[in-house]
Amino acid sequence: MTSRTPLIAGNWKMNKTGTQAVEAASRLKSLVNGVRGVQIMIAPTYTALSQVAQVLKGSAIALGAQDLFWEKQGAFTGKISSEMLVDAGCSHVIIGHSERRQFFGETDQTVNRKIRAAISEKLIPVFCIGESEAERDAGDTFSVLDKQVRVGLKDFVSDDLSGIVVAYEPIWAIGTGKTATREQAQEAHQFIRSLLDTLFGKPFANTVRVLYGGSVKPDNVRALMEMPDVDGALVGGASLDPETFSKLVFFND
Ligand code: PEP
Repeated sequence: MTSRTPLIAGNWKMNKTGTQAVEAASRLKSLVNGVRGVQIMIAPTYTALSQVAQVLKGSAIALGAQDLFWEKQGAFTGKISSEMLVDAGCSHVIIGHSERRQFFGETDQTVNRKIRAAISEKLIPVFCIGESEAERDAGDTFSVLDKQVRVGLKDFVSDDLSGIVVAYEPIWAIGTGKTATREQAQEAHQFIRSLLDTLFGKPFANTVRVLYGGSVKPDNVRALMEMPDVDGALVGGASLDPETFSKLVFFND
């Protein structure tokens, strides 16, 4: 564990209607009431954002979106801008999730544009990176992470990126029940932090939070969180049930 405030973030993906999201957010709010020393974020689907924002008012749970588009407005059917997300009550936005890279043509270049758009509205990007199983087996994990970070954060300076969160999510561990060992997670997180040191300097690298994502569950969260460069978790499946997710928030109890 580190001196950085841990962040436990839930990505609800394409799950829950507005009504279901409100119900889950209300339950979570009461379950985590009084939590100290941990930040919490949930990212419901777009159509639930405004309703969930009302529920979260006055709580310590931040609201995030799962993606955005980089243009401010215009003829971009189906897209959502950073300004719209802020208006809906978001403070965070997930960018570059592997499902977006895999199914929706997200590239390191589009990730870079989206991070710029998020920052322009003071939204905190949760910037996702991670290697596939084939890339890991080929010994390419670090070179993949290196490229994702260098291109994703190209042309930024450290001041632009203050508050940004990086999520290391090995694709082979997402939704598979196959968690990276804590040593694998630590090794990747340490690599990412030292790359951020090279690119943006030590003060930035020492304060940026690097989350682990990939089949985090109540029974493995503590071991992961004990690693010095693991600053929290980005959670898919286990974030959908408020009881289970709240156990992740209270990982230290
Ligand atoms: C994710 O999609 O970011 C994720 C980590 O999913 P899961 O927790 O279900 O593996």
